[in-house]
Amino acid sequence: MHIPYADRLSPQTVQFLRSQPGRLWIGGRWRESLNGHTLTKDEPSTGQPLFTAFAGDADDVDAAVQAARHVFDNPNHPWRRMTPYDRERLLHRLADLLETHHVQLAELLTLENGKPLSAAEAEVNASVRMFRYYAGWPTKIEGDVKPVSIPHRLNYTLREPVGVVGAIIPWNFPLSMIAWKLAPALAAGNCVILKPAEQTPVTAIRVAELVQEAGFPDGVVQLINGLGETAGAALTAHPGVDKIAFTGSTEVGKIILRASAGNLKRVSLELGGKSPQIVFDDADLPRAIAGVAYGIFSNAGQSCNAGSRLFVQRSAYERVVAGVAERAAGLRVGAGFDSGVDIGPLISREQLERVSRYIVLGQEQGGVLRCGGTRPSHASADGYFLAPTIFESVRDDMAIVREEIFGPVLVATPFDSLEEVAARANDTTYGLAAGIWTRDIGRAHALAALLRAGTVWINCYSQFDPASPFGGYKQSGFGREMGHEALELYTQVKSVWVGL
Ligand code: ADP
Repeated sequence: MHIPYADRLSPQTVQFLRSQPGRLWIGGRWRESLNGHTLTKDEPSTGQPLFTAFAGDADDVDAAVQAARHVFDNPNHPWRRMTPYDRERLLHRLADLLETHHVQLAELLTLENGKPLSAAEAEVNASVRMFRYYAGWPTKIEGDVKPVSIPHRLNYTLREPVGVVGAIIPWNFPLSMIAWKLAPALAAGNCVILKPAEQTPVTAIRVAELVQEAGFPDGVVQLINGLGETAGAALTAHPGVDKIAFTGSTEVGKIILRASAGNLKRVSLELGGKSPQIVFDDADLPRAIAGVAYGIFSNAGQSCNAGSRLFVQRSAYERVVAGVAERAAGLRVGAGFDSGVDIGPLISREQLERVSRYIVLGQEQGGVLRCGGTRPSHASADGYFLAPTIFESVRDDMAIVREEIFGPVLVATPFDSLEEVAARANDTTYGLAAGIWTRDIGRAHALAALLRAGTVWINCYSQFDPASPFGGYKQSGFGREMGHEALELYTQVKSVWVGL
């Protein structure tokens, strides 16, 4: 098979890509899918085939669930008896291995997702930090003693793992999404079945190899590449799965919630967004302009927290929009391996077509393009490239203002007062994140309190840290990832009464 960018890749990456088709990892064994089905994914900056992976189906999911249950349901299994200290050590060992192989992991991320190599490197580093942060938790997950008022009774709580966790993740941050779910789930002592997106099966296979090398017992983690409608749906419906942790579209989130009802799985959902960026005229405007551009155009706008709706106070409107448009024009769109590239291609032809349809629709409904809207002329014709795009003259009821586009498309509109912008910013079914830019500290905090969003960034945007919780209000989902809050998702509380 032809390997794109082979001359730029480390020998380890080339060797890894030669070992296709990628297998499923179940019960500590690397296997083909039972029905022999595969999926082939292309490389987004050339459209050429990149990698073929075995695609699991309901039967493979069932085997993975059985392997995980075999571990979890056996109180004498080494994973169930493992001390918190040893779990900590395993998580650190995995973090060490991710660090050791950071070049290869970044290359695989860029190959399969298209993002610039520098962004892929940042994603590897962030994932290492996520595993290290949660490595600190097993020794600190505590129950407590309750001050009950019944004489001669002692009551205490234990915080125990939920059991077998199905982690269904998207393609926009293929490694971070693994880390966000795997790290807290393992820290809490669960077993995990990981179902990566069909658009990004590659990095996950390498991570699974490293999980094995780190020494996690067989069956603690399984990897099932496969399609959402088959493998994902089977995992969601399986009675042997105790919890589904999902990141993806709101549409699929609703399907998952319904499908999980059979055995009342715990479900956490991190879904879409249409996050507002609100710039007041007293803001440090150059900083705000840079932050707005970064908030929407990084990762080619394919982030659930993308700041895709720009509200600017009227007197600063033209200056800010001109500034963001100037930055947009200066961003280099190209293949992730090309030096100096700021924005890679979109993930797939389908995604490019979807975003392009919104650009046509936006114009049909009266929106005016300030910049972009086309495929950049210098980029390869076969790649899924799109220039950073800004719409003006938009109304709050237009599809491009209301719906998540998941591409580098910003809609800009002026506002006059804080009350007005709070109401308009909240006029969305989503509630994932929001940005506020102002030097007026009172106004910043007053508005932060009014915004119905799970994260508010003031004079910054897209800041993430393992210690800080992230998740949605409204139809952006429920449950919080990262921080000690994520441990709530992966543990349950047992109350123990003792007669004295
Ligand atoms: P995106 O819009 O980012 O592609 P999706 O919500 O379509 O997000 O996909 C996110 C993840 O959900 C992927 O791993 C995909 O395979 C999975 N998925 C898609 N449809 C289903 C489904 N019906 N049941 C379970 N998982 C699904």
